[in-house]
Amino acid sequence: MKSARMIAEHVQSGGSAVAIVQETLAKIDADSSNAFRETFPTEALAAAEEVDRNIARGSPAGVLAGVPVAIKDNICTTEGRTSCGSKMLENYRSPFDATAVTRLREAGAIVVGKVNCDEFAMGSSTETCHFGAVKNPVDSSRVPGGSSGGSAAAVSAGLVPIALGSDTGGSIRQPAAFCGVTGLKPSYGQVSRWGLVAFASSLDQIGPFTRDCEDAALAFGVLRGGDPKDGTCDPAPPRPCELTSTNMKGLRVGIPTQSASDGNADSVTNMMTGLRKQLASANADVVDIDLSLLDQGISTYYVIATAEASSNLARFDGIRYGHRAQAPNASPDELMALSRSEGFGEEVRRRIMLGTYVLSAGYYDAYYNRALKIRRMIRDEYLKAFSSCDVLLSPTTPSPAFPLGGITDPVEMYLCDRYTVGANIAGIPGVSVPYGRDQDNLPLGVQLLAAPFADESLLSAGAALERLRDEANIDGAWNA
Ligand code: GLN
Repeated sequence: MKSARMIAEHVQSGGSAVAIVQETLAKIDADSSNAFRETFPTEALAAAEEVDRNIARGSPAGVLAGVPVAIKDNICTTEGRTSCGSKMLENYRSPFDATAVTRLREAGAIVVGKVNCDEFAMGSSTETCHFGAVKNPVDSSRVPGGSSGGSAAAVSAGLVPIALGSDTGGSIRQPAAFCGVTGLKPSYGQVSRWGLVAFASSLDQIGPFTRDCEDAALAFGVLRGGDPKDGTCDPAPPRPCELTSTNMKGLRVGIPTQSASDGNADSVTNMMTGLRKQLASANADVVDIDLSLLDQGISTYYVIATAEASSNLARFDGIRYGHRAQAPNASPDELMALSRSEGFGEEVRRRIMLGTYVLSAGYYDAYYNRALKIRRMIRDEYLKAFSSCDVLLSPTTPSPAFPLGGITDPVEMYLCDRYTVGANIAGIPGVSVPYGRDQDNLPLGVQLLAAPFADESLLSAGAALERLRDEANIDGAWNA
């Protein structure tokens, strides 16, 4: 499959978007990863015909003209269902498109279908999806990561060049690393969340999966920009994202000392050792950074995220939204309790209970308020780090993709996100770039972080890292 920019150029110069969409739909039909929840052949082909017609007529073509895109199941589309991987919303149809989806369509992209995710985006493996686990296209015995596992798998398997995901604590970057693709979590406030089913509103961001940073910049330029429907979104108008220098020379790269943790797989440790040398020989300015609060990230995240989730998910009660239990003689309270017990899976129920607990009278100060204080300290620590470096570099994950069913302990699963949650807690942008493979041929990922709203320089540094990787003949993992 070609990159998004190659497809768009082809269509802009008269190539058929319809043919591209037909080819894409056939590939999705033949795919066995369970990445897709459903496809929209009729609507997608009609949209492609319109793109072809407009271009034939000489109307200006969008920057994503004819590019097939997949949308995570927790982002609203008027086609199909928006189920959030849950029985609770198994048949929910959104009456509107998310702003991010509207922006893609306006740029000429073709929405070909919805992709599976962990239930309500809670998980790191896509195994909590009510519609079946997604398999990693690189090795079908492994998880694709999560929660945006379907989005990562769809790009990794070469089905689409761009897929939207959401990232609350790592759900774009971790699956990108596991599947050998690029995943961008923009700064908090860069991309409108209107139409994203909320998990933890102070942490959630929508972002693209692509095969490289140049395509990520193309998609991000379309997605970002103010939206009156999302008051947390920076009002600056949509504008293209230009990659500046894609050279490592002189770039101040901070490596947190804490990211060389004992818990890393050997392959991850070796990748970091090799990368450090490559950075030095490319004349990057490598500095060690002490992020002493990095270890507090997971506990802080699991207090704040569950607290917000317990509030956001209160609307799914079988009356306002979601699955309704068949219980004709039940009182309203009983009906809600029954509907929620039937509609939500185990992990979602665990989060709601945890979140309700940390917000309850008597525990609020000890947990929620304390987590907010640590959150501020974590943010301050990152901001201080960015006064002495341009980007922070670490592994994206402590290990490569684990086997399906390989992690059953929830806390062990939560620890998969120890390098990613910090960016959400601090609101800063992060990108995962594929960087080599382990002895079993599984992709490894490197995470770069930058200061708030420095998304453009982040992607430029990501492109520089890709160049370094390619020049050193290290596998770029994306292989379909
Ligand atoms: N894996 C993390 C969680 O389970 C992050 C999820 C996400 O970013 N949506 O909460």
